[in-house]
Amino acid sequence: MSAPVRVVFLAGVGRSGTTLVERTLAEVDGVTALGEVMHLWDRGLVRGELCGCGAPFRDCPFWHEVGELAFGGWDHVDAARMAHLKARVDRATRVPAVASGRPRSLAAEVREYADHYVRLYRAASELTGGVVVDSSKQVSLAWCLQTRPEIDLRVVHCVRDSRGVAYSWSKDVARPEAVSEEYGRMPRYSAPAVSALWLLHNAEIEALRRRVPVQRLRYEDFVADPARVTRDVLELAEVDAPVDHVGADTILLGSSHSCAGNPMRFRTGAVPVRADEAWRASAPHRQRRAVTALTAPLLARYGYPL
Ligand SMILES: [Zn+2]
Repeated sequence: MSAPVRVVFLAGVGRSGTTLVERTLAEVDGVTALGEVMHLWDRGLVRGELCGCGAPFRDCPFWHEVGELAFGGWDHVDAARMAHLKARVDRATRVPAVASGRPRSLAAEVREYADHYVRLYRAASELTGGVVVDSSKQVSLAWCLQTRPEIDLRVVHCVRDSRGVAYSWSKDVARPEAVSEEYGRMPRYSAPAVSALWLLHNAEIEALRRRVPVQRLRYEDFVADPARVTRDVLELAEVDAPVDHVGADTILLGSSHSCAGNPMRFRTGAVPVRADEAWRASAPHRQRRAVTALTAPLLARYGYPL
């Protein structure tokens, strides 16, 4: 068997600033950032949404090559089957079963599902010679990936203050990469729903520590000192390269072949880094109180004032 492919997986709850972290890593020599690969099968292959380079997924030369090398072409990937497997194994409620490897029928589905990722990561790494970054965030996917010896998985646990996350999910945000009206907006969630999700997902990421290296990255620390935190992640990835593109309050970003993710992946040039603290002034008091009460134990653990 060839050497395992090293994959840095950004795990965390959506709206935790992971896109900027991923984009920052994408500019480092020896790193290949792929975007949120969990959405590739649906948004890229089926819906034909845009790659970070601006091309529709199937027209992007990078992803074309990856598809050829990994699967002999994307037409050999059964996207409906991937959607079925994802619904079966790649969900937060399935993590205990995936972790135990029982029942055997489920373990077989995890294997089939994760094998697509093994092939894709390996192809991307072979083509670019770099460590691969997947910013899918979804913790259940990390649990599926850690079952495979072909992947040398390193997890970055991205945490953000739950009150900022909840405020962000309560707002209406457009999705410029969508090619149809139907998918033109990001979904919105209530404060209790985000709180439950935040607790469960963070706990399931913590539990991964028993299987693979996990390094915590607080969004608030990243925006305060992006160069230092980027170097910390590169250490986890065992990548020795300069981070000259990272300034104290701006990061110089080029375009990347991020297959899916936050609309921010289309921004290039000098992107200002500042803490998005709008929730402190604008979040309704009821929302803030509810989220603080519901998420208090982990908020304290992560060093956020109550
Ligand atoms: Zn592209």
